[in-house]
Amino acid sequence: MPVLMKKPTRVQHPPEVELPAGNQALVPPIYQSVKFEYADVAQTEQGLRGRIPGFFYSRHSNPTLRQLELLLAEMQGREAALVTSSGVAAIGMCLFALLKQGDHVVCFAESYSPTRQLLKKVLARFGVTHTLLSIEDMDGLERTLREKPTRLVIFESPTNPVTKVADIPRLTALARSHGALTVLDNTFAGLHQHGEFDIDIYLHSLTKYASGHGDVLGGAVIANADLIRSMHGDFTVFGATLDPHAAYLILRGMKTYFLRCREQAATAMVVARFLEAHPQVSAVRYPGLESHPQHALARAQMQEDFGSVVTFEIRGGLEAARRFTDALDYFALAGSLGSTESLVMPPQLVQPRDLPAALVPASGITENTIRLSIGLEAVEDLIADLSQALEKSAS
Ligand SMILES: *Cc1c(COP(=O)(O)O)cnc(C)c1O
Repeated sequence: MPVLMKKPTRVQHPPEVELPAGNQALVPPIYQSVKFEYADVAQTEQGLRGRIPGFFYSRHSNPTLRQLELLLAEMQGREAALVTSSGVAAIGMCLFALLKQGDHVVCFAESYSPTRQLLKKVLARFGVTHTLLSIEDMDGLERTLREKPTRLVIFESPTNPVTKVADIPRLTALARSHGALTVLDNTFAGLHQHGEFDIDIYLHSLTKYASGHGDVLGGAVIANADLIRSMHGDFTVFGATLDPHAAYLILRGMKTYFLRCREQAATAMVVARFLEAHPQVSAVRYPGLESHPQHALARAQMQEDFGSVVTFEIRGGLEAARRFTDALDYFALAGSLGSTESLVMPPQLVQPRDLPAALVPASGITENTIRLSIGLEAVEDLIADLSQALEKSAS
């Protein structure tokens, strides 16, 4: 090694550690590098034209991101994926990459509100129109698809917060027969579910179950290789790329993904049954309960688990909901879901006011609605906490 160089030069070109052949790290290293170089100009040219594999600039691609993308695609049963800096970035970039002026989109009143905002406030400025329906209105979907040429249908299942279950086979068959793409924001059900359906594109907020620990934002778009290839250029120029260190944290979270999902869903089921039997509770919405209006559909579509979001109606209105929420010790009053800590949110606090009057009831949110996201605490402690808070809500 030429140590003739002066020290200021040396710190720019430090000694390198190369692992000998056959020797490798068990946990893949984080490629915390923006740039990559090839051996010479000829190779660089080939690399930039995509004729040889490799990496050049991390906004386009990076080995740590690629590693996460390969894993996520496989988890969802598709060929390829692109990861983004947040779940909302995945939704926005996916819509921009797929839509053009004059296109029409169907979305639903029960959807994640930034998705509706993107269509209503942003894409509308670029001449993209949309129709808003209830996810329960499949006749309305059929009518809309018949009357308006539609580029894509974007939906969720179960929906947030009242866990309505989309009839996925019916929805996808309708969309397919009318030439519309289906985009499922599958964050609630998770990467391990819904892969068997005829869905073109899956979106995920990796901020939730995938990373699992509430310490990192991320998003993903998962589809067949052709679709992902066609979107990659647009994603690169939007630039909402995931940071390699964030990708590493998500990869690390994925190692305990199944353990967490299983445990959190099992605890959610116990919590749902406890709430259902409680006199201070007038209704519980959890797809795993026999009393859920679409339990049979949920059972057919969600074959692994029913998730960790339990929503219920407390007796006593806004004041009782407030007393209950403030009395909880182990549930943090915070948005999001799928983290290791349990969370509580009275959704009326964050209820968007954009829904047309006719669709407000479809949201299912009332002044009594409370959403719980179940974490990894001992189930006995969570039940005891809910029990004392429900008692306090009544007085
Ligand atoms: C949280 C969430 C998102 C957005 O994800 P961020 O990572 O917070 O941007 C999108 N869709 C659903 C269903 C979500 O719950």
